[in-house]
Amino acid sequence: MTLNRSEAPETPALSNFLRDIIAEDVRTRKYGDATIQTRFPPEPNGYLHIGHAKAICLDFGLADEFGGKTNLRFDDTNPEKEEQEYVDSIQRDIHWLGFDWERLCFASDYFGQLYEWALQLIRAGKAYVDDLSADQIRQYRGTLTEPGKESPWRNRSVEENLDLFQRMKAGEFSDGSRVLRAKIDMASPNLNMRDPVMYRILHATHHRTGDDWCIYPMYDYAHGQSDSIEQVTHSMCSLEFADHQPLYRWFIEQLGIFPSQQIEFDRLSLTYTLLSKRKLLQLVKEGFVNGWDDPRMPTLSGLRRRGFSPEALRTFINTVGASRTNGIVDIEMLEHFQRDYLNRRARRAMAVLRPLKLIIDNYPENQVEHVEVQNNPEDPSAGTRLVPFSREIYIEMDDFRELPPPKYYRLSPGKEVRLRNAYFVTAHSIVKDSAGNIVEVHCTYDPASRGGNSPDGRKVKSTMHWVSAAHAISAEVRLYDKLFSKPDPNDVPEGGTFLDNLNPDSLQILADARLEPSLAGATAEDRYQFERVGYFCLDPDSSETKKVFNRTLPLKDSWAKIEKKAGV
Ligand code: ATP
Ligand code: MG
Repeated sequence: MTLNRSEAPETPALSNFLRDIIAEDVRTRKYGDATIQTRFPPEPNGYLHIGHAKAICLDFGLADEFGGKTNLRFDDTNPEKEEQEYVDSIQRDIHWLGFDWERLCFASDYFGQLYEWALQLIRAGKAYVDDLSADQIRQYRGTLTEPGKESPWRNRSVEENLDLFQRMKAGEFSDGSRVLRAKIDMASPNLNMRDPVMYRILHATHHRTGDDWCIYPMYDYAHGQSDSIEQVTHSMCSLEFADHQPLYRWFIEQLGIFPSQQIEFDRLSLTYTLLSKRKLLQLVKEGFVNGWDDPRMPTLSGLRRRGFSPEALRTFINTVGASRTNGIVDIEMLEHFQRDYLNRRARRAMAVLRPLKLIIDNYPENQVEHVEVQNNPEDPSAGTRLVPFSREIYIEMDDFRELPPPKYYRLSPGKEVRLRNAYFVTAHSIVKDSAGNIVEVHCTYDPASRGGNSPDGRKVKSTMHWVSAAHAISAEVRLYDKLFSKPDPNDVPEGGTFLDNLNPDSLQILADARLEPSLAGATAEDRYQFERVGYFCLDPDSSETKKVFNRTLPLKDSWAKIEKKAGV
């Protein structure tokens, strides 16, 4: 089942190798009559980011295409790092992205079964309890060029292993004193096959199972077996798990259970963006951003708050596709799809971010005209609205220069410009405060230019937005820029950290913007284009008395230019 995708103008499915593999398995009836089953397996140790969105779109999207089903499974095997808050946020974010799961599962629901299977492997002589410390295990593991060394505990009897493992579970031993390891091959060229740890002792309270367990399965043991329990046919994950695939298969073969297959695809990486929960957590914990949903974060909750739409994210991900080699995608491409969506959907409005008062000396005092303007020129069905115009209005400070530099076509003394949808005005004087700041600009208007039309073929070089001073609402506007100032945030000189690459100007707050009065009715769902300024949405920090708007993106689309240059 999918949610809120009906209105999505999505790109058609592009070919990708994952789809080809599934199609082939369906054709050869690899899984007989079974339907295609996938899963999305987040660890609840942070919020989802746009990299996860790629995995979600593949897991849910491909299953959907083949009439299959997708489970949401929390890989909750690290009690120390996991929290209910993350479990909740992950579900919210998947729904927001437009997907719903067949079953909600938790690896912790399988702890009993996983334990039984571990006993089965011990009985078969395929697993043993090791008393080496974590450090010793690491030393014994060897390197890529040197084979590992067998643990002195490797050849314990089945009876002793069963006894020790049961006592590990019963809580007789301290954290880290023993582990259960698979008995595979200490000389394997694949380090993951050198007797990997299956269970560790950890006296920690789990967010779901409480204190029921003091041994916890490792990812490699828990993951594939959980897939098998859920009869997952295609277990898709990112490329860093490719080296784990032989181990994934080994457990399933030894246990003789449902043959789930793992397939790896490329991780999504974006320029100017970090996609690592660990580092994102650090940004949150150390206060470099205002929470996981800070609009500068690449988390789904951050993107949502910033005003990104699930439709645009899905279109972006479908376009990027899946491949077998990692690459880096330009953040401008994501922004391009978001702008494209907003250009078609966002209601236009006039908003002045840095207000400067413009007084039209020859306009009748107390007169108010209501100018009818289109809500979205791209979409006539969006209708029109009336915007009040009066003698005193606000324009952008940037739209006036007392001493205009060359090629400055906006307002300056003696120059005529168009006020959008209203009139031609000519500036003639300014008023400054004692500090020399311009506080008022005086102008005259040409009544014959009503509607912003040239009365006699006379041309002006600039059209400016405005809001009527008496009717405007005040608001706070937050302008966001990239969180990092380098395309690769991890690119730091020796001894530095990614924190050194934080962009000091990633957030600019404009406390006294003036907006056209219709924006008083803005809701969280509305998307706006503030004309000439950018795309904006209401921030949840808004109250009855004070509106706060976030800039989703500025108008300029650099990707379109990049594409054009590249001849795409
Ligand atoms: P991170 O590296 O950010 O901590 P993770 O891989 O540890 O993420 P999980 O919760 O284990 O996060 O990921 C759930 C699923 O999402 C996994 O199948 C993983 O392969 C996939 N995934 C995570 N990051 C990306 C990414 N950048 N691109 C594509 N898939 C991803
Ligand atoms: Mg992980």
